Amino acid sequence: MHELSIALQILRSAEDAALRAGTPRVLAVHLQLGRLAGVVRESLDFAWDVATEGTPLAGAALHIEDVEARGRCAQCGREVELPDWRSLRCPECATLVVELTAGRELAIRAIEVATEPG
Ligand SMILES: [Zn+2]
Repeated sequence: MHELSIALQILRSAEDAALRAGTPRVLAVHLQLGRLAGVVRESLDFAWDVATEGTPLAGAALHIEDVEARGRCAQCGREVELPDWRSLRCPECATLVVELTAGRELAIRAIEVATEPG
């Protein structure tokens, strides 16, 4: 399962960030997930629970922020919304949009850690 390896990468990044912050306790991870990142949000939610089980991050929440896909049309220069892979055409001139400007994000935006000991 592709989402499990992604969840494990997020877990490692969050653990590193918590260590740098001087606390082992992570309360929540905020993730930006582009619509065209190729990740199924529900699967990632599930994989997160599996990946964190038995680790110091067990019970930490994974907040997923969806990022709408956008692209620039080479024909008319407009930046347009691209709802999914099946509609990568400019709504203005119907040209195929090949330059994505947003929508492939898969990045940790913030990590909430506990500041009090224990
Ligand atoms: Zn266009």
